[in-house]
Amino acid sequence: MKYSDKPVFHGTKVALLSLGCKVNSYETDSIRRQFEEAGAEIVDFDGACKGIDGGADIFVINTCSVTNIADRKSRQMLRRARQNNPGAIVAATGCYAQIGAQELIDSGVADIVAGNSHKSELIAMIAEYLEKDRTEEPAHREMSADAEPGSPSNLYVTSMKDEHCYEDMKIDSCDERVRAFVKIEDGCNQFCTYCIIPYARGRVRSRTPESVLEEVRGLAEKGFKEVVVTGIHVSSYGFENYEKATAQNGTKAADDDNVMFNFTPLLELIRQIAKIDGIERIRLGSLEPRIVCREFAEALAAEPKFCPYFHLSLQSGCDSVLKRMNRHYDTAEFYEKVELLREVFDDPSINTDVIVGFPGETVEEFETSKAFLEKVNFAKMHIFKYSRRRGTVADRMEGQLTEAEKHERSETLAVIDRKNHHDFMEIFADRDETILVESVQSIEGKDYYTGLTARYVSVAVPCDEFDEDPVNRFVTVCTRGFLNGEYLLGLKKAIL
Ligand code: SF4
Repeated sequence: MKYSDKPVFHGTKVALLSLGCKVNSYETDSIRRQFEEAGAEIVDFDGACKGIDGGADIFVINTCSVTNIADRKSRQMLRRARQNNPGAIVAATGCYAQIGAQELIDSGVADIVAGNSHKSELIAMIAEYLEKDRTEEPAHREMSADAEPGSPSNLYVTSMKDEHCYEDMKIDSCDERVRAFVKIEDGCNQFCTYCIIPYARGRVRSRTPESVLEEVRGLAEKGFKEVVVTGIHVSSYGFENYEKATAQNGTKAADDDNVMFNFTPLLELIRQIAKIDGIERIRLGSLEPRIVCREFAEALAAEPKFCPYFHLSLQSGCDSVLKRMNRHYDTAEFYEKVELLREVFDDPSINTDVIVGFPGETVEEFETSKAFLEKVNFAKMHIFKYSRRRGTVADRMEGQLTEAEKHERSETLAVIDRKNHHDFMEIFADRDETILVESVQSIEGKDYYTGLTARYVSVAVPCDEFDEDPVNRFVTVCTRGFLNGEYLLGLKKAIL
C-alpha cells in the first residue's frame, strides 16, 4: 500500500488520547479527522479502555515526554488501552514515541510506533499493519530520510535533527467547543537545559501562511469565533527563512543566542487571520519575552481582534537560575517587556510559567525569584515543581532538591498567585465586559452560562437570564463582583 492511498475504516472503532501540550491536542484532532474521513467510528478513550460497548479496534495515543513522569504516564496509558482489548491495535505517536521508540516496541505495549515527523502517515501505517500477519515479530528499522515509505515495519522513527520540513496536518474542528488551537510551527532551537523537546521535535519548522489561513477559514465556516495561534516555540515562526537568507547572503549562520527574534512573519500572519470573516478573537500561545518590542506591541494593539492576553514564559525570577536553565534573557529584560506591554495595552493579562526547585536552587535564589514574581504581579502563574527528564543537561546537574523542598516552594508561590489572580480579576469586577459563552456550569446549586473575556477572566451569568442558548455567542455583561474565587458574576446586557 502506498501512503497516498486513502485507507478505509468503515465499521472500525477508534479511540484516541492526547497527552501533554496543545500542539499534541491539535495533532490528535488532525488524526481523528483522518479516521472520520475514512469512515471510522470515534469512541471515548476511557470507556473503550474499560471495554465498554466492545471497547475499540484501534487505540492511538499521542504521547508526551516532557518529564520522566510524562514518559511513565504515556506507558501506563498504552498498557491501559491493551488491558481489556487484547485484540486491538495500539499505536503510539508523539514525543515519547520519538524518544523512547525502541523501549515501546521491546516492551510490547505498542504495535506501531510513529515518530513526530510521521504523524500524518499514521492512519496509512495502521491500514498497512492490518493487512500484515499480526503474529509476525515486530521488527525495528530506523527509517532513513530517503527510505521508501510504506516498507513493512512497525517502527517509523527518523532522527528529528534531520527534519527540515513542516509536516502539514489539518483540523476542521477540535475538542474545545468555541476556541480552536491552530498550529503554526513545530520544533525549538532554544535548548533549555531541562527540556527534551528540541530532541523530540527537532529544529524550528514553520507552516506556510497559506496553509494556516486555509485552515482558519475552514474553522470559521464551522462556527469557530476564536483562534489561539500555537506551536512549540511560536516566537520562532519564520525563523528558518531568516537562517536561509543569512546563509544565501554569505553572512554568518544565525547564532541562536544573539539573534533578535524577527516578529514580522508572526505579525503578518495575525493580520491575515484577522481579515477572515467570522473570526472575532485571536490569541497568541506562549511567547518568548525577547520577541516583545514597541513596534510589535503597538502593531498588535492596533488589531481590534487581538486579545490583550500574553503568556510570557519566565521559568525563574532569579538570574543565576535562568542562566543554568539556558534561558536567553535576564529578569531586567523580562521586566522591561512586561512594562512595555502594560504601557501599550490597557490592563493586559500577563501570565507565566515558573519552575520551582530547579537543580541547585538555593534558598537565596528562591527568595530572589519570589521577590521578582511579586514585583511583576502576574495575572496568573502556572507553577511547576522541577521534574527530571532523562537525557537533559539539568538531569545530570548536582544539587537536585527533594520533593518536600519543591513542594514547599510551590505552595509559597501558590499563595502569591492566588492573591495576584484575585487582584487582577477585581479590576474587572464592576464594569461592562464581553464574554464568549462556552458552557453551562452548576455553581453552588445554580446553573450559569460561563465564558471568558478577552483577557481570560471567567464570568458566570445566571441561565435564567436567557431565553435562547447563548453558547458560542458573544454576550455583553455588567459584572457585579465575585461569584466565587474562580468566576465574576455577570448580568446579561445583550447577546451580540
Ligand atoms: S523554549 Fe526551552 S522549554 Fe520551551 S520548548 Fe524550547 S527548549 Fe523546551
